[in-house]
Amino acid sequence: MSGPVVTNPFALAWLERGELPPLPTGHFIDGRFQPPAAGQMMDSFDPGFGRTIAAFAAGDAEDVDRAVTSAQAGFAVWRKSTPGERHGVLSRMAEAVRRNHALLAMVDSLDSGKSMAEAEGDVSGTARLFDYYAGVALTIQGSQIPLGNDLVSMTFREPVGVTAHIVPWNYPTGTFARSIAACLAAGCSAVVKPAETTPFTALIMAQMLVECGLPHGVVNVVTGTGTAAGGPLTEHRAVRHVTFTGSVNTGIRVAQVAARNIASLTLELGGKSPLIALSDCDPVAVAEGALWGIFSNAGQVCSAGSRLVIARNRHDDVVSRLLKLTEALSVGHGLRGCDISAINSPQQLARIAAHVDAARARGRNVLTGGGTGADTAHDTGWFYRPTLIDDLPANDPSVLEEIFGPVLAIQIVDSDEEALAVANSTDFGLMAGIYSRDITRALAMARDLDSGQVTINDYWAGGIAVPFGGRRNSGYGREKGKEGIDAFLSTKAVTIRLTPPPAG
Ligand code: NAD
Repeated sequence: MSGPVVTNPFALAWLERGELPPLPTGHFIDGRFQPPAAGQMMDSFDPGFGRTIAAFAAGDAEDVDRAVTSAQAGFAVWRKSTPGERHGVLSRMAEAVRRNHALLAMVDSLDSGKSMAEAEGDVSGTARLFDYYAGVALTIQGSQIPLGNDLVSMTFREPVGVTAHIVPWNYPTGTFARSIAACLAAGCSAVVKPAETTPFTALIMAQMLVECGLPHGVVNVVTGTGTAAGGPLTEHRAVRHVTFTGSVNTGIRVAQVAARNIASLTLELGGKSPLIALSDCDPVAVAEGALWGIFSNAGQVCSAGSRLVIARNRHDDVVSRLLKLTEALSVGHGLRGCDISAINSPQQLARIAAHVDAARARGRNVLTGGGTGADTAHDTGWFYRPTLIDDLPANDPSVLEEIFGPVLAIQIVDSDEEALAVANSTDFGLMAGIYSRDITRALAMARDLDSGQVTINDYWAGGIAVPFGGRRNSGYGREKGKEGIDAFLSTKAVTIRLTPPPAG
């Protein structure tokens, strides 16, 4: 079997003996685990073996209502907390995440299917997010507006209230952390609905927050399906802000529901992000950047570089390197550290396969991959081989539609103008990468790209201090960075008359 030596003790216990670490089974409401009101449970799966891990609570509207009531009580306490108290909880949480790194990384990898390296990176990022927003909690302040001698006005930046967080399955730990850390720094309370295939790290982290001193009720987690639990949560009249991360279609539905309650909304949706290799690019750097741009987390990344838009003079060199690197990747169970880990669900695997089969049927040039299965029969779960599809026209569904799997669509261009037009030609606007030896040329293109973020000469360049979000079908609002706190704050202006009002 391929992949690095397994050192994580929880991973070893599962792989060798089928033993699990203790996993929570109820919702987390009012500071403790509680059984679902209707007593219904559902199963979570290990995508690497395609077999059941454990049962968790299948929530419904009654559970959501209990959680929102708890969050209302939590808000009444937390909104009055001092910046120092918020800083303290978030800093302690960062340390708690570090102490529990092995457990969180294993559960994250096991539940989502992602490779252990990816999960470890996400847990480390989660600790840094709590550190970062611990700092931001100390910096929230309003302003003073001069209005002449008679009046003075000032603004208070106040928490918006109870917030809802709908989290997808591809980064269950980091996505929970980025919205919850900012929400708590602002003084809001929360009800989180993790994806139905990845419920566990949100439950574990909610309990850790209480152990770090967060008052009961401030963070609640209701597990279950999008329809039975997510719907009632986003529809709840007491929810003042919704942070939704997921697909475009669900995002549209959530936006319609939030509009009825005039709740504010952050939408982090899908992407079809281009990695643009200009005619003066370094072919070695592009091949490496494109490889991990698309194949990180088996392509199940909203900001994956799922299109390579490449100058014709560099195409053969880059694509032959990329082909070699792709064919050397290991495909297998994430806990064993394989390069291409499992696809999160059989439904998602079927969607990916259908996309590539349709491209083949259209006569497209599938250079490698294009099939299911891991390297060894031992890994019986849901795998898709890393796939390259070459020389696609700009109107091909493979370059327009999000596949959300390890499939790279390659488009050849003859000028910077064509590269820009092709890059901007989908409905999405999440991310773009540019590779060029000429920074002026790259910057000129960066200014014209219609996307929320652009990286130059390193597709994944960035960090938690860099705001993240989309344009057009990729959504709106920003998470991470100082801007990540804005969604959770509302400005109140208070104006004082200093002299008696004018007579009459
Ligand atoms: P999805 O929209 O099906 O599900 C996302 C979440 O929404 C899940 O928790 C689900 O239970 C919930 N949900 C489903 N129906 C709902 C409803 N009616 N009301 C409320 N909640 C509901 O998305 P998915 O297929 O699970 O996730 C993959 C998608 O997420 C991809 O399109 C990807 O690009 C996107 N994504 C975006 C980002 C980002 O930051 N922009 C990050 C990760 C994933």
